[in-house]
Amino acid sequence: MIELSNVDKHYGSLQVLSNVSMHFADGEVTAILGPSGAGKSTLIRCINCLEAISGGDIVVNGKSVRDKRAVLDIQKQTSMVFQHFNLYPHLTALQNITLAPIKVLRKNKADVEAQARGLLDMVGLASKGDRHPAELSGGEQQRVGICRALAMNPQHLLLDEVTSAIDPEMTAEVLRVIEELAGTGTTLILVTHEIEFARRIADKVAFMEGGKLVAHSDAETFFNHQSEERISRFVDKMK
Ligand code: ADP
Ligand code: MG
Repeated sequence: MIELSNVDKHYGSLQVLSNVSMHFADGEVTAILGPSGAGKSTLIRCINCLEAISGGDIVVNGKSVRDKRAVLDIQKQTSMVFQHFNLYPHLTALQNITLAPIKVLRKNKADVEAQARGLLDMVGLASKGDRHPAELSGGEQQRVGICRALAMNPQHLLLDEVTSAIDPEMTAEVLRVIEELAGTGTTLILVTHEIEFARRIADKVAFMEGGKLVAHSDAETFFNHQSEERISRFVDKMK
């Protein structure tokens, strides 16, 4: 469970998040929408302790991101998938997936490799575990990125525009993998511009603009009974 209370974030004099309060229930799928520069990436990076908040609080399973001793625990429970994959170029796909479970969770190497091969199989890359990122397409690299996140058995998965840097014809495979995760008990928080996808899988939708959370409701209300004209127009343009 993730709870944000009055979160502020600034970079120098630039206020990037203003008084954001929101709640993510366990197992829920939330799509975060909004224009570029709205603070969406910053928000999920703050949840994952990749950025420090300036005010307010974020509590993940009862632990505050402000508590330095809680950071590792929070990061174990919240895995992140990045827009630009951020795979280690010198490691194979399999090594990218097994590194953190071995080094951070101190799991047995053989067990972790078996799990990693299962994950690669699940995303349709069973034969590519020994490839380096440069030998994989963008869509394949991103599926490895998702495996790497899942290998930590996270309770919460944070996905930041995971299809925006890959070829349109490669996005379907990546979205299929994410769709399969929805409803499996993992909490999904996905920043996305894939509006039809969000409509299909999200339980809740949040809309951010200028560092503020301007809407947060169940998906049905957001898409079908949107009271803000401005948000409807933005959503229509994304189709
Ligand atoms: P979004 O993901 O919605 O496009 P971001 O969270 O990436 O928005 O960025 C929100 C604002 O914060 C933007 O104005 C961006 O330029 C600024 N910003 C993001 N990261 C940094 C940083 N490390 N230093 C300074 N400004 C940043
Ligand atoms: Mg972003």
